[in-house]
Formats: sequence, structure tokens, C-alpha cells
Amino acid sequence: MIYQRSSQLFAEAEQVIPGGVNSPVRAFKGVGGTPLFAKSAQGAYLYDEDDNRLIDYINSWGPMILGHAFQPVVDAVIEKAKKGTSFGMPTELETQIARLAISMVPNIDKIRFVNSGTEACMSAIRLARGYTKRDKIIKFAGCYHGHSDSFLIAAGSGLSTFGVPNSPGVTQGTAKDTLLAHYNDIDNVKALFEANANEIAAIIIEPVAGNMGCVPPAAGFLQALREICDANNALLIFDEVMTGFRLAKGGAQELYGVTADIVCFGKVIGGGLPVGAFAARNEIMNHLAPLGPVYQAGTLSGNPLAMAAGLAMLETLNNDTAVYQRLEEKTAYLQQGIDRVLRENNIVFTINRVGSMISVHFDAHPVVDFQTAKNGDNDTFKKFFHGLLQEGVYIAPSAYETWFITDALTYDDLDFTINAVAKVAQTL
Ligand SMILES: *Cc1c(COP(=O)(O)O)cnc(C)c1O
Repeated sequence: MIYQRSSQLFAEAEQVIPGGVNSPVRAFKGVGGTPLFAKSAQGAYLYDEDDNRLIDYINSWGPMILGHAFQPVVDAVIEKAKKGTSFGMPTELETQIARLAISMVPNIDKIRFVNSGTEACMSAIRLARGYTKRDKIIKFAGCYHGHSDSFLIAAGSGLSTFGVPNSPGVTQGTAKDTLLAHYNDIDNVKALFEANANEIAAIIIEPVAGNMGCVPPAAGFLQALREICDANNALLIFDEVMTGFRLAKGGAQELYGVTADIVCFGKVIGGGLPVGAFAARNEIMNHLAPLGPVYQAGTLSGNPLAMAAGLAMLETLNNDTAVYQRLEEKTAYLQQGIDRVLRENNIVFTINRVGSMISVHFDAHPVVDFQTAKNGDNDTFKKFFHGLLQEGVYIAPSAYETWFITDALTYDDLDFTINAVAKVAQTL
């Protein structure tokens, strides 16, 4: 495969954009080499500026659950764009998507739309702090909740790729209110509550972690967090930016039967446009301005293009009763195939999967938290990544990322991918 034009475009971008990219994980720092520049995409395929075709397992980091340029979304956006792209006034469309989202997700009465997952999580903890009148939050090492200050503490993916445990620019004052716990370690969480009695506003968690590879919650872990929060009058925030509308209509709450107090969304809910949202029961959401004292706002929040894209996406997911089953079956098929060919080549590995989220780790031990995720052999991952790229299979350029399976993938695509993995495995 030739990347001549991509390399040239990257060199030009580096002159005017820090690192040549507008989001760090795109830069291939974790795997070496220069990033591909996208030209177009359709269904399960990406086409780069050198006209290489790639089977896409990133899917814009999650939103494209039904494939790229999904027709109902494209049509909805074009239709709306002709009538004006933002008004700074409410539109009926916002009520429509809010109603639909609330009908799909358990335990929420109201939802507020923002422009990114970062904004959703940032606003959710402000709301939790305002509601509980407490300052501290617990987050888990390896979980990513966007790049707002409170969360840039052992935050997975981009940060782990670069080995930056914490970001300069985050003040000590902010960092001291974020307590760090180990994923899947309930005793650790209990100890933090004991040491900070009546000070913890909320626990925020990716109910299935997706930013240190895919790390499922241990049996009973989410339920135990629910009970600890109830016992301590703290809120449980599920960051479902990745899992929401992906693992089930009602996300991880539905899949695991555990109720969160505030739920954050992004990615799929925007159908590929910049959208985030956070939602909760009335008693919590009514604390938000203009009803209540907790302030949150946005010039382009709920804009018609984003809402039209999100509504078309959610309507499709809501009406297609078999979509989550298909995603489950396709991803299980991929998992079994990769498992088989890696074994045949005596590769040391672990595969984690929940629904259509999957990750391959080059380590023999179970990957259950950030520490065990970091044990993976990064040199092998780099070879794996570049080998697959040569075969026309595009996975995330970091050992700490989940692959997102799209319904646009055919079984031929999956077989092609498994064959590519078999070929690459011989070189590892
Ligand atoms: C992607 C992601 C975010 C941040 O969303 P942005 O839209 O990139 O700001 C937050 N939480 C989780 C779990 C995510 O995967």
C-alpha cells in the first residue's frame, strides 16, 4: 500500500496544526509512521487520499454503528441544512430526539444536548456536585471522560499512548477533588468512601471501559457501586458516551440491569455529527439552569443538523429490532476467527469483548483494569497494526483502544479481516 499523498498532506498539516491533527490519537504516535488522510467513506469502508480501500474498525471512534454515510442520516442532514443550520432558538426537532432517547434509555426523565462527550461528562459532574453539594468525585484509572480538567488523571487511551499520567495545565486544586480508583476493585472504592466520608459527590465510570482496550465490568461490580453510592448519598454516573445506543437500546444500564443516576452520551447519539448529552431523573435534571442553579449552556447545542443526524440514527436503532443481535453475532464471529488464527500461530494474546466492542491484547493474562491493560506487548501491537494496515484493515492506532464493529460489515469483510490477521500473525 502506498501512502504518498497522505504523507505529504500530513507534512503540510504539521506546519499549521499542532502535530498535524485536531485530536492526538489520530497522529499514530503510539504505533509510529504517519497517519492516513481520509478522502471518503461508505458503509464499512474508508478510502484514503491515495485511494487505498480500508475495512474500518474505528468508525470515527464509535459513532458510525450503521456504517459510514448512512443514507437516512445523510438525507436528514441535507434536508435540514437547506433550511438553516443554527437558530439559537428552540426547535421541535430537539423535543423529538429527546423524547425518543428517553423512551429508549431506562430511568431518565429529561435530557440536555451538548456538542461533545467531553461537555456531557464535564456538565454531569457539575450537576452532581451542585445536586449533592459535595466537591469530590471518584474516577477509575484508565477510564476516559473527555478532556476537561477534572478527568485528566490516569485517563486511558491518548494519555496512556503518550505516557502522560496527568496533563500540565490541570491545577493541583482541581486534581485534589478527583479520587482515583482501580477498575473492578470494589474494596478500593469502599476505602475511598471511608477516607472521604460525606465529601464524595459521585462516582463516574465507563460501565464497560473502552479507553484502555475493552474492559468489561466484573460480575456484580456495577451493582456494588450502585449500593455504595446509595449508602453514601452519592450519585452514580455512567459515562455511556461509548456504550450508549451501542451495547443495547438502553446501553449498559439495560445490559447489566443496573441503574445510574446520571447518564452521559456522545458518539452514536449524534449519528456522526458533534453531539453529546446527559440525562437523569427529574429531581436531578431540574437543578439545571434555567430551572435550577447549576449553569450549563451552548451556542450550537441542539442545532438542527446535529439533531437531525442523531434522530435519524436513533430512529433506525429503535425500529430495527434485530440490529443489536446482528452486531453481537458479527463481533462474536470476528472474535472466534481472530482467536483461532492467533492460536494457530502461537501468539500470546487475550481478547476482550462486550457486544460490538472488542480489543486484542498481546499478553497472556486477563485484562481487567488499567494496570493489566498496560502489560500488553506494545512492540507486537505496533507490528500487528502496521501489518493489518498493509492488508487493508484499519484498527485504532493505539494498543489502548477498542475496535468498534459496524453493522455495515459483511461476513465476507469479517473473513477478509480474519485472513489478514492470520497473515500478519506469521510475522509477529
Ligand atoms: C469519546 C469519549 C468521551 C469524550 O467524547 P468527545 O466527544 O470526544 O469529547 C467521553 N467518554 C467516553 C467514554 C468516550 O469514549
